[in-house]
Amino acid sequence: MTTTRFAPSPNGPLHLGHAYAAIIAHDRARADGGEMLLRIEDIDGARSRAEWADEFREDLAWLGLTWREVPAQSTRIAQYRQALESLMIMGLVYPCRCTRTDIARTARRMGPDGPVYPSTCLRDPVPPGPDAVWRLDMEQAMDLAGPLTWRDERRGLHVARPDLFGDVVLWRKDAPASYHLAATLDDAADGVSVVTRGADLFAASHVHRLLQVLLGLPEPVWHHHRVLVEADGRKLAKRRGADALAARRRAGENGHAVAATLRAALFDTGISLSEYVDRSP
Ligand code: GLU
Repeated sequence: MTTTRFAPSPNGPLHLGHAYAAIIAHDRARADGGEMLLRIEDIDGARSRAEWADEFREDLAWLGLTWREVPAQSTRIAQYRQALESLMIMGLVYPCRCTRTDIARTARRMGPDGPVYPSTCLRDPVPPGPDAVWRLDMEQAMDLAGPLTWRDERRGLHVARPDLFGDVVLWRKDAPASYHLAATLDDAADGVSVVTRGADLFAASHVHRLLQVLLGLPEPVWHHHRVLVEADGRKLAKRRGADALAARRRAGENGHAVAATLRAALFDTGISLSEYVDRSP
């Protein structure tokens, strides 16, 4: 039986793109009698609001979906810290105090998330502290893990290329764990067998596969689904609010009908499905 997940961040209303993601996760799991998990990714305390998470549950019910909710990320900080500490013991992470501006100035190449950090604080170590992040020593980590692959249900087998990202941040000053560390640990802890998420996060799976091996976590399969885009190709954004599910719900629209439309991928609103929103080089 398949376990999938829908993992929204409660920093704004869900829109049709989220509804599509939730439906894919739900239907993929239900196809063999499995279940979709709902995980509220509220690790970014400054931007997360519990009220949004309440709305999310109402939105999903309105769409006619069923799920099991697992603990929100904000309750799991101790596990994230423990994983960081094991990577410290393995000598695979280092503190870094470089600013965004430093990195923009010194980077020599672009990665899937922007300028790639040129390992300045690895060559010139700085002490850890509350104003430092922790980065993965990518070269050493990859040496230790050896060559890796991962499989996406829709797009086949991939050679893992976490090196595209360079020395990713695993522990932030503000959040505190990074998306990469938190999502990887959570999916394993929650027993997710098929990691369902938008193709805009496709490249992140290269890093997640490496973290799984370093931390001794099970290997899932991935299912990166197409993402809804505006007529001009831009991804739907939470802040636009126009397509908020809550607004449709309050306006008396039928959620099951909205879900049926999304399932049929019939869009007459200038919104369409795009295979892969990739901003990497
Ligand atoms: N929390 C992320 C978001 O709301 C999703 C991350 C994931 O599915 O891995 O965009």
